[in-house]
Amino acid sequence: MEIAIIAHDGKKADMVQFLNKNKVTLSQDEIKIIATGTTGGKAEAAGFKVKRYLSGPLGGDAQIAARVAEGKTKMVLFFKDPGSSHPHDADINMLIRICDVHNVPLATNEATAQLLLDAIKKP
Ligand code: PGA
Repeated sequence: MEIAIIAHDGKKADMVQFLNKNKVTLSQDEIKIIATGTTGGKAEAAGFKVKRYLSGPLGGDAQIAARVAEGKTKMVLFFKDPGSSHPHDADINMLIRICDVHNVPLATNEATAQLLLDAIKKP
């Protein structure tokens, strides 16, 4: 199962903490993590195996949206920072729309992301 992780700059530390907290779930054999460039770099530095795409402002969110549209990415954990604006807002909104179009679970905050990971956690 391919899961995409994306975190805005103000939320990257929270994302790393969240990944560490969910290490057991994320280490399940069938889980493959993909990420936007900088978020992926932080996850790798924390010891996670991640396939990195472009950084968000360079099109990373759009690349992940394409994978959702193609049926490859099955879940998106997006730690959005509501306190800052982004030059690539159009891409972010496009990713959200594509998840809705394809009925792919999308979390835009940590509490929802936790509920989604709990749902795929093996007992
Ligand atoms: P980043 O992109 O992981 O490369 O910072 C995330 C984003 O801003 O959408």
